[in-house]
Amino acid sequence: MTAKLRLYVQHPLGEGQQVVLDRAQAHYLFGVMRMAVGAHVTLFNGADGEWQAEIAEASKRGGTLTCLQQSAPLQMPPDLWLCFAPIKKARTDFIVEKAAEMGARRILPVSTEYTNSERIRQDRLQAHAVEAAEQCGGTYVPEVAALQKLDALLAALGDRRLLFCDESRLGQPLDLPRGEAGPWAILIGPEGGFSSAERTRLSALPQAHPISLGPRILRADTAAVAALTLWQSSIGDWT
Ligand code: SAM
Repeated sequence: MTAKLRLYVQHPLGEGQQVVLDRAQAHYLFGVMRMAVGAHVTLFNGADGEWQAEIAEASKRGGTLTCLQQSAPLQMPPDLWLCFAPIKKARTDFIVEKAAEMGARRILPVSTEYTNSERIRQDRLQAHAVEAAEQCGGTYVPEVAALQKLDALLAALGDRRLLFCDESRLGQPLDLPRGEAGPWAILIGPEGGFSSAERTRLSALPQAHPISLGPRILRADTAAVAALTLWQSSIGDWT
């Protein structure tokens, strides 16, 4: 049986492996969740799959778990990056949480001409990705990259295909990529959309696949979930 409580740890996992908890994890397990020695917890670390573990030692400041057996193998999401221009704090948090749940492998905040949020808290966003993986049963946590300029992102793409969500194509027929597996990135613009120079540049990239997300202008957070859904259902791991 798998324990309901799932915890991400940065520690190797394997049969008999002792996992030392940090203060925050100990506070959560023993202070908040009131768990005691002998109780079972589900662990994953993004590399070794999912493991059942037993609490061996518990104190306010720390504790130790012992790995018993593997309950699921590592399931890597497809090689899909979600690139988006950060917006207001709560909506940016939402994008990161949903990208982790929907199976993005990396999450890349990008600064465009009309991006109004020039700073992000990368550690906070990474913590949201961890929480999302814990609650959705994932065995992998996507990395949240540092904020970078659009130029740097485009250079880092190499020949990765790009699903360019272009609001100027509003209402055009849906043209989903099919049968084109391999590395992909989704790009979502900021509240102000893409500038015409950016749009011209993005559309001209050989790997770009511009797409309309229907007849209405979606908020960036809605657009991110819609694009992830379309991609996952056409060439991702929902197929
Ligand atoms: N201010 C822009 C405008 O009025 O045209 C809208 C920007 S929209 C709030 C934020 C981003 O979501 C866009 O840059 C685009 O990437 C994506 N988006 C929203 N609706 C879209 C649609 N119908 N088709 C394609 N992309 C869309």
